Amino acid sequence: MELKVVKPEIVRLQIKEFMNLVKERDNHQLEFLQAVEEVAETVVPYILSNEIYKGKQILTRMVEPERVLMFRVPWVNDEGKIIVNRGFRIQMNSAIGPYKGGLRFHPTVNLSILKFLAFEQVFKNALTTLPMGGGKGGSDFDPKGKTDDEIMRFCHSFMSELSRHIGANTDVPAGDIGVGAREIGFLFGMYKRLRNEFTGVLTGKGMSWGGSLIRPEATGYGTVYFAQNMLKTKGDGLDGKIITVSGSGNVAQYACEKATQLGAKVVTLSDSLGFIYDKEGIDASKLAFVMDLKNNKRGRIKEYVKKYPNAKFIAGERPWGIRCEIALPCATQNEISGEEAKTLLENGCYVISEGANMPSTPEAVRIFLNAKILYAPGKASNAGGVATSGLEMSQNSLRTNWTREEVDSKLKKIMSDIHDSCLEFGKQEDGYIDYVKGANIAGFVKVADAMLAQGVV
Ligand code: NDP
Repeated sequence: MELKVVKPEIVRLQIKEFMNLVKERDNHQLEFLQAVEEVAETVVPYILSNEIYKGKQILTRMVEPERVLMFRVPWVNDEGKIIVNRGFRIQMNSAIGPYKGGLRFHPTVNLSILKFLAFEQVFKNALTTLPMGGGKGGSDFDPKGKTDDEIMRFCHSFMSELSRHIGANTDVPAGDIGVGAREIGFLFGMYKRLRNEFTGVLTGKGMSWGGSLIRPEATGYGTVYFAQNMLKTKGDGLDGKIITVSGSGNVAQYACEKATQLGAKVVTLSDSLGFIYDKEGIDASKLAFVMDLKNNKRGRIKEYVKKYPNAKFIAGERPWGIRCEIALPCATQNEISGEEAKTLLENGCYVISEGANMPSTPEAVRIFLNAKILYAPGKASNAGGVATSGLEMSQNSLRTNWTREEVDSKLKKIMSDIHDSCLEFGKQEDGYIDYVKGANIAGFVKVADAMLAQGVV
C-alpha cells in the first residue's frame, strides 16, 4: 500500500489536537490518557499517511467505549455487616468479535484504570488474529484477607448484575489481578443459575467444566515465547540468561516456570510489600513452594526467605536494581519508572517483555526505545492469555477439548504471528524493530478496517 509522506510538524499538531479532544472529556483519567497517547503517537501518523482512514474519525470513535456499565455490588461479610462495592464493565469495541477481557478485583480499580485496560485490550485482541473485541471490568473489592465464603458472596452479588450484560456471543470476561480460578468458579456458578444455561460465557474455567488446558499458564508462557522470538532476531536465545520477574501471581509464576524450562535463571519475584532475590535461581521445586504459598495458602512472597534462607527479602522495593539480561514485569501498571529503566540498562538488561499491562511508564518506554533494546509492550507480549481464552471459546463452541500439546503449539504459533505483525509495521530503516509502533499499527489496521466496513455505528 502506498503511504503518503506527511510533514512531522503536521503530525505533531494532529496528535496534540487529538489528545486535547480526549483530555477535554476525560482529563482526570490519567492511566487512560497515558494508554491513548502512546497509541496516538504511532497511529495518528499512520492515519495521516493513509488515504482510506482520512476523515473517518476511527481513533476518535475507538477512544469512546461502546458502553460503560457501573453498578452497585452489595454483599454481607462474615460478621454480618453489609458492604457496598462498585462494579464495572467497559464494553469498548466489538468491531471484530464479542467483547473480551478480564475482570480485576483490586482496591485501586476505577474508571480510568479499566478504560486504559479495555482500550489496550482492543489492540491486543486484534493482534491475536482471533475474532475477539475488547472489554474489561472489575471492582474496587479487595480479595486480600477475605474468607472463601466472603469471596463467594461477593462474586455471586457481582454476577447477579453482570449476567444481564454478558453472554457467549456478547461479552466473555476472564480473570485479571485478584480474579483467578476460585473467583471464576463462583462467577460462573451464579451465571449458570441465573440464565439456566451452560455456555462459554467466562474463560479461565476449571478443566472439568469447560476450561482449556494451558489457559492458566498462557499469559506467562506467551510472554516468555515472545522474548524468545525477539532474541531470535539477534541470533540469541534464553539459555543461561539471568531474568528478573516482578509479581508473584498468575502471570509471574508461569513466566518463571517457562523461562526456567528454557534454560534461563529467574532470580526475583515480588508483591506489593517488596521483592525476593534468590541468586541461585528459583528452580522448579522453589516455584512449586511459591505456587502453594500464593495460590493455596494465600501468603506473602516474603515467606520465601523463611523456607530458603540464602535468598533475601527487600521490603518496599521493586526488583529493577538487580543485575539481569532480561526483565519480565508481571505485576501491574507503571511499575518501571524512568529511573528504574536507566538502572536496568546500566546493569546490562537488553530485553524487556511485558507480562503485565502498561508496566513501563512513558519515560521508561522512551528510554528503552532510545537505547534500541528489545522492548515488547504488553499488548503484544502478554496477548497469549487472551489468545488462549479465544481457544477456550472455540473448544466450548465445538464441545471438545484439545490436548495440552495442541493448545501449547497453537499458543506458540500465535505469539510468533504477533511477533511477525510487529515486524511488518515496526521495522525501522536502520533495522531496529519498534515493537510499540508495530503492535499499535497492526492492531489498529484490523479493527479500523472492520469499522470502515460496518459504517458509522
Ligand atoms: P494476580 O492477582 O495473580 O497477581 C498480581 C501480582 O502483582 C501479585 O503478586 C500482586 O501482589 C502484584 N501487584 C498487584 N498490584 C500491585 C501493585 N500496585 N504494586 C506491586 N505489586 C502489585 O494477577 P495476574 O498475574 O493475573 O496479573 C498481573 C498483570 O498481568 C496485570 O497487569 C494484568 O493486567 C496482566 N495480565 C494478566 C493476564 C492474565 O491472564 N491473568 C493476561 C494479560 C495481562 P499483591 O498480592 O501484594 O497485590
